[in-house]
Amino acid sequence: MKNKFNRRGFIGIAAMAGAGAAFGGLPQWSFAGLQDGKPAILGGEKAYTAGFASWPVFDTTEEQALISVLKSGKWGRLDGPILAEFEKTYADLNGASHCLGVSSGTAALTTILGALGIGPGDEVVIPVYTFIATYNVVVLNYALPILVDTDIETFQMDVKKAEAAVTAQTKAIMPVHIGGTPADIDALMRLGEKTGIPIIEDACQAHLAEWKGKKVGNFGLAGAFSFQSSKNLNCAEGGAVLTNDAGFARTCYTFHNQGQGGTGTSYGTGLGTRATNLRLTEFQGSLLLAQMTRLQRQVETRTENANYLTELLADIPGIEPAKWYPGTTRSAYHLYMFRYLKEHFHGLSRGKFVDALNAEGIPCDPGYGQMNRDAYVTGLASNSHYLRMYGEKAMKEWLERNQCPQNDTLTGEQSLWFFQTMLLGTRENMEQIAEAIRKIQKYAKQIAKA
Ligand SMILES: *Cc1c(COP(=O)(O)O)cnc(C)c1O
Repeated sequence: MKNKFNRRGFIGIAAMAGAGAAFGGLPQWSFAGLQDGKPAILGGEKAYTAGFASWPVFDTTEEQALISVLKSGKWGRLDGPILAEFEKTYADLNGASHCLGVSSGTAALTTILGALGIGPGDEVVIPVYTFIATYNVVVLNYALPILVDTDIETFQMDVKKAEAAVTAQTKAIMPVHIGGTPADIDALMRLGEKTGIPIIEDACQAHLAEWKGKKVGNFGLAGAFSFQSSKNLNCAEGGAVLTNDAGFARTCYTFHNQGQGGTGTSYGTGLGTRATNLRLTEFQGSLLLAQMTRLQRQVETRTENANYLTELLADIPGIEPAKWYPGTTRSAYHLYMFRYLKEHFHGLSRGKFVDALNAEGIPCDPGYGQMNRDAYVTGLASNSHYLRMYGEKAMKEWLERNQCPQNDTLTGEQSLWFFQTMLLGTRENMEQIAEAIRKIQKYAKQIAKA
């Protein structure tokens, strides 16, 4: 494994944190009074009792923003100026030339695929390890989603396997910056250049994440963001398209506005021949502007806590935080993703490890599963429209193309998540997480039997 890291030039996150030496190894608090502490699941004290930061965070800033839109009587993007203000602010924050607010992250991806004219007969390459929306937007266009295996050490799409999945029918490659950490953007851009196929960034979890100092969403033809309740920037339901291509921005606007052009309230001649209504409202624009007053500070808090947590976990064998590709300069840490290797826990199953963590007061989740094996996905091979369009043989081959052995191992046995809200807590909270895991490791044999 070491060799593999070296060869591929991985940088461990622990090394990135660079703070290990500064703290002189593990802090004194660590295990003094806790050395013999039993895990909560065996009747001991909970390592964590305070509960994690609630989400969303808001105060009178949000209240005033919403009431101001209400009282203006201008509630939709075609009525008022707030959404345009949000779009300018979000574009500037990301260093992009164009931002289009839309009704969800799914709508952002739908708008991009619509503007690209993706349709029946086309293939779109996506990672298997993602939220189902990435898949759904392809299928809603009656295109064929090609699921690519995961790089088990980073949890990101394996770009070499993505390259192997490209055919003459491929019309878009849609990597996801999963967990808020950038995919291998340099390798993806090289693949895009080599094949001439547009790269679409699903950055729905990756607000303000950076690759070589530049914000994600700026690398491909366009990037999609989500502002759904759980995401790091939140207005209940919302999304945005970022692009640095003025023509593409206009086509996206047109697609999300019933084929009508123009901006704001001015209607012009539309582009393309298919469109819909995916408009965001002024209420959501005003909420986003209010939430953005906190975004930068939250990003920094998550980074500080995640780096500290990674440093603490580095000393625990069998806990392997997702690695970063070398170009990554910031993760949005929507998820803190790590691998659990049970052989370092006396064979304690992942499920029981999660139960034990939950008993300590710490939320933890196995996260995404094997999308390529889900009945919801495999059922596409017997969908009557797909059978008519692609034929039985092609749909059978499609099922076979979607084999993802690395993802099977990762999601079947190893993958775990902590959530972004946990990273908004204190340094002490991070210490308590590490302490809980140490207790569980020490008593793993007893927990396995319990
Ligand atoms: C949340 C999410 C989406 C969809 O965003 P919605 O706003 O919920 O529609 C798409 N892709 C990924 C990776 C996501 O996490």
